[in-house]
Amino acid sequence: MNTTGPDDDSRYDVIICGYGPVGAVLANLLGQRGLRVAVFERAADVYHMPRAAHFDHEIMRTFQGIGLTDEILPATARIEGMHFLNADGRKLFGFDSPVGATPNAWDSGYMFYQPALEMALRRGVERYPNIDVFLEHEVLGVGDDHGGASVIVRSLADETRHELTARFVVGCDGARSEVRRQLQVEVDDIGFDEPWLVVDVALQRPVDLPDVCLQICDPRRPTTYVPMPEPYRRWEFMLLEGETSEEMEDREQVWSLLEPWLARDDAEIVRAVVYTFHAVIARGWRCGNVMIAGDAAHQMPPFLGQGMCSGIRDAANLAWKLDLVVRGLAPDTLLDTYEEERSPHVRRIIDAAVLFGSMICTVDADVAAARDRQFLDEGFVPPGDSDGLRLPLSAGVVLRDESGAPAAPAGSLFIQPVLTTDDGRTGLLDDLVGPHFTLVSRSSNPEEALTGDAATLWAALDGRAIAGRDDRGFLDAWFDEHECEVVLLRPDRHVFGTAASVSGASDLVSALGRLLAPRP
Ligand SMILES: Cc1cc2nc3c(=O)[nH]c(=O)nc-3n(C[C@H](O)[C@H](O)[C@H](O)COP(=O)(O)OP(=O)(O)OC[C@H]3O[C@@H](n4cnc5c(N)ncnc54)[C@H](O)[C@@H]3O)c2cc1C
Repeated sequence: MNTTGPDDDSRYDVIICGYGPVGAVLANLLGQRGLRVAVFERAADVYHMPRAAHFDHEIMRTFQGIGLTDEILPATARIEGMHFLNADGRKLFGFDSPVGATPNAWDSGYMFYQPALEMALRRGVERYPNIDVFLEHEVLGVGDDHGGASVIVRSLADETRHELTARFVVGCDGARSEVRRQLQVEVDDIGFDEPWLVVDVALQRPVDLPDVCLQICDPRRPTTYVPMPEPYRRWEFMLLEGETSEEMEDREQVWSLLEPWLARDDAEIVRAVVYTFHAVIARGWRCGNVMIAGDAAHQMPPFLGQGMCSGIRDAANLAWKLDLVVRGLAPDTLLDTYEEERSPHVRRIIDAAVLFGSMICTVDADVAAARDRQFLDEGFVPPGDSDGLRLPLSAGVVLRDESGAPAAPAGSLFIQPVLTTDDGRTGLLDDLVGPHFTLVSRSSNPEEALTGDAATLWAALDGRAIAGRDDRGFLDAWFDEHECEVVLLRPDRHVFGTAASVSGASDLVSALGRLLAPRP
């Protein structure tokens, strides 16, 4: 953190407004790439109350990419699953996390304590001398100036005002984003506004509580139970018609809601606050040189534990594109692909979260009984967990077929095998190659197949190539399934495209070059 104030004469590559989890991940990703970055955050410290409690394997892979899994992993607990119960405690359906690593190399999901995670992310940022962090600095205004952007900030410590310039500004300033407001970005309201009381407790002794997350679809009081890492547990109780935040947050009321689960001396209440869950998505995530990410761009009810995860995916999508544009390796129109790629993806997850939310939030006894019959008698299976619903990218920087659609598996997230290379190195793919464009093959080094302009572009992009074998068989299975011998990965580990033989690597790189070239 900077102890002196911002220098108005500094010009940054990127200014990040807001230092929540999304701003902090973006800062790590840009810091790693050597960009000169300033972060402005209104609060003096990490927000002390947890909101998010779960992230998935894809997000752990992003934390791996920024070198922070050793910091983050010890403070997490593996998620065992999520069960939906009816009012009588009968299981309507559920997701049980598979034991062992996913093809991404990490467990399917993790429970965590948000303040601890955010502190780990901030320690990560401290590794980069190219990042200036200014806490207690409120962003008052943003400007999109020709060829760059600017922010006006106010120091909360001494009331001084500063105007700073950068090539780009990213608003990671949360649900009530000032950056979004100033850009006059419209927001689509998907129609979900439910107030829930969120209660976090710290257990004072071992208590026999479920290991899985529970969604108790009881029309008399829809309730969620979340097993967070020790010693924390969370309950969420939907407010019923006529109930107010004040009466629900009253300690006596909170204890009466917790009574079926806990004795009073079993736990200390860490907080009990009413949140209204929303489902909204912004239209226009980029206005010139200013972008928004995370809750500033979208919000969803927390039933799938995907709000922060979606924001971290925004950061992973944006970081390498900002890097290419700042370095002059792509035109700024590349940044238009940010919303094109991310918005449909996040919209699908919001829709799923709203669907699950509406199943859980039913307060009409007859509707709830009909829902229960659908599950218990007719074996209804809902469309899948957040993983099953995750879409490949449908647009943007991906190889296209003749119709212009992504040539599958282009756009999907690539697996992360443990590779043993011909030169005797063994490790997780991402650790071996780092955050670069990467050609992967199981036979010969694809870089040797690059010729002419493709070889020149590859060198300019600082691309990596790797050939190796995976003793667990994931790599062979993937190449066999997709009938290919080489795959070109983007820095965010999405598949750009594949070719049937290693000699096709040159064509893949040339196709990437065409998409990175200025749009006519
Ligand atoms: C009860 C609950 C449970 C949830 N559970 C999950 C879950 O299990 N998994 C999951 O993935 N997500 C979950 N979420 C969602 C998750 O908490 C959010 O999506 C995530 O915190 C958003 O991160 P962010 O960095 O975009 O915004 P924030 O965390 O809101 O951070 C924004 C930052 O910007 C700062 N800021 C704002 N305005 C200014 C300004 N003008 N100047 C300077 N700084 C400013 C703020 O102080 C703040 O630090 C849950 C949310 C709730 C409410």
